Amino acid sequence: MGKSRSATAICAYLMHTLHISASEALAHLRQTRPFCEPNDGFMKQLELYHQMGAPDTVEDHPIYQRWLYKREVEFSGACGQAPDADKIRFEDEHAGRVSKESPAEFELKCKKCRRQLATSPYLLPHTLPTNPNAPSTANTPISSLSPAPAAACTHYFLDPLSWMRAELEQGKLEGRLECPKCKANVGKYAWQGMRCSCRAWVVPGISLAKGRVDEMKLSGGSRGEGMGIRRPPGAVNAGGGQAKENL
Ligand SMILES: [Zn+2]
Ligand SMILES: [Zn+2]
Repeated sequence: MGKSRSATAICAYLMHTLHISASEALAHLRQTRPFCEPNDGFMKQLELYHQMGAPDTVEDHPIYQRWLYKREVEFSGACGQAPDADKIRFEDEHAGRVSKESPAEFELKCKKCRRQLATSPYLLPHTLPTNPNAPSTANTPISSLSPAPAAACTHYFLDPLSWMRAELEQGKLEGRLECPKCKANVGKYAWQGMRCSCRAWVVPGISLAKGRVDEMKLSGGSRGEGMGIRRPPGAVNAGGGQAKENL
C-alpha cells in the first residue's frame, strides 16, 4: 500500500544520498505522500542506519552486529531457548572496532582473587519499566510499583564478555558465572531475563553480584587489557552502573 515498507526503503535511500536523518527523510517523503508511515520497528532500524552513517553496506558494522545479537536473544528467548553459540556477541572482542570512546571510569574485580571481570563501559544501566501493563511487571502488583522507593541494586548487569564464553556457549538458558581465575561464584545469567533487586527486569540478564566483586576507580582510564576502550552503542551513561535508559 506504499505506507510502511516501501516508505522505509525510500527513506533509507534519501538518508544515504542526502546524508539526512530518518525523520528528515520521512518529512521529505511526506511532502509528496503524506500517507507514508514506516512502522515503529522500521523507524528504529532507520535511526540505527543513521547512527551507522548510512553506509553502502551494514553487515560488518558493530551497531548492526549488535542489533543482530539483540534480535537473536529476543527470538530465542521467545522460544524459551538460549541463543545460538555463534550468535552471542562478546563485546570485548570487538573493542578495536569503535574508536575514541570515553575511557573506563572503574573496573570490577573478583573479590577473592582480584582478577578483572569487567570495566564500566561494558555495564548496562537499567531502570524500572514505566508502563504497569508491560509484560515485565506481570507478576508485580501495580500498587507496589510506583510509590515505594526501589531497593538498591545488588547486581551489575553487563554485556557478554569473553571470559564467560565457555559457560555461555553451552546453550543453557540460565546458569552461574564463575571467576575464570579462582572459580569463585561471581554472578549468574538468564537469557530470558532477570529481575534486579530494584525490581527492574533486564533482558538478557547477565550479572555480577555486587557482594562478589570490588569496584575500583581507574585513573586515566587506559588500563585493563583493552576492556575499557569503548562503551556499547546505545548506552548513554558510561559511568553509573544503574543510571538510565536501556530495556
Ligand atoms: Zn537494579
Ligand atoms: Zn577470582
